[in-house]
Amino acid sequence: MIPFLDLRDAYLELKSEIDTAVLRVLDSGWYVLGEEVENFEAEWAKYCGAEHAVGVANGLDALVLSLRALGVGHGDEVIVPSHTFIATWLAVSAVGAKPVPVEPDKNSYNIDPTKIASAITDRTRAIIPVHLYGQPADLDPILEIARARGIAVVEDAAQAHGAEYKGKRIGGDSDLVCWSFYPGKNLGALGDAGAVTSNRPDLVEKLRVLRNYGSKKKYVNNVAGVNSRLDPMQAAVLRVKLGYLDEWNGRRNALADSYSSALEGSGLILPTISSWAKSAWHLYVVRSPNRDHLIDILKDAGIGTQIHYPIPPHMQEAFQSSNFAPDQFPLAQKFAGEVFSLPMGPHAPMNVSDVVCRSIENASAPH
Ligand SMILES: *Cc1c(COP(=O)(O)O)cnc(C)c1O
Repeated sequence: MIPFLDLRDAYLELKSEIDTAVLRVLDSGWYVLGEEVENFEAEWAKYCGAEHAVGVANGLDALVLSLRALGVGHGDEVIVPSHTFIATWLAVSAVGAKPVPVEPDKNSYNIDPTKIASAITDRTRAIIPVHLYGQPADLDPILEIARARGIAVVEDAAQAHGAEYKGKRIGGDSDLVCWSFYPGKNLGALGDAGAVTSNRPDLVEKLRVLRNYGSKKKYVNNVAGVNSRLDPMQAAVLRVKLGYLDEWNGRRNALADSYSSALEGSGLILPTISSWAKSAWHLYVVRSPNRDHLIDILKDAGIGTQIHYPIPPHMQEAFQSSNFAPDQFPLAQKFAGEVFSLPMGPHAPMNVSDVVCRSIENASAPH
């Protein structure tokens, strides 16, 4: 049996270091914000090539608080990919703004920059590109469109820790870059955690206030903020795991290479990585019109798969009131019906690509 992902493997590889880090926090007597969080923020900002990082409770809050820091709210529009995890859209609706979907590029699955300009109106306040599956979106044309019109760019980098755009790690290019450290992400905590990286001190200041009850000075509340602080226990775990991120991303990359060579000629549509991109390989996503059958075959062979994501956001009940038609975003609709993800992670066995390849070959061979 090869599961899609077993989170315990990551803990076990680093058990003694993680246990020591967690015990250090338990022993410190300091359980909210403080030195452990500040140290992780500094280390994460440095890794990303950004000037600042602000730790928050999770990736969705990173997006919501970023939009709030920018002053996005009721009556505003925010451009989002039609093909993404629903959190990207939920952040927009959470601040009372309207998500305006833009279709993906067929090869990268990321937002198609050539389709953004026509979706912009005089109410557009921000664009949220998502680095989906670990591959950076094409940031330069997006930043150019946004800057020419005074629109903010907030990156959803929840799947792309360590990914590179044109030779440089993502995290310091746009106004605000949002991270999730949900356990299954490339840099994952042992619970919920998130952060925002930025080079804009004005926005960073607002985020620090917003995440902590809207308060700079204890019991003096400047804005109606929330409680969304990064837990020092998780910060301690993340500091340990950050030391292994590049090595673990390297293992993901090797497994992706192995899938791509084993599955060439399998009939599956394989991932395409743009020449200027280095993927963090959060997921290895393939496509087939025959998806559900192939998933069954792999299941019988003991291989776990997942679908990222089976229902596009515009078809979710949560966005029913927006009255989107199914065929309004045909690429998002098509990809939701065809994509599936093979086991991927720093602890997935390298031979999984051969097992997947053989199972699929056997299934399509004439009997
Ligand atoms: C995981 C994820 C999020 C949300 O992160 P949480 O920490 O689970 O709130 C947002 N966007 C994308 C693309 C994600 O994959």
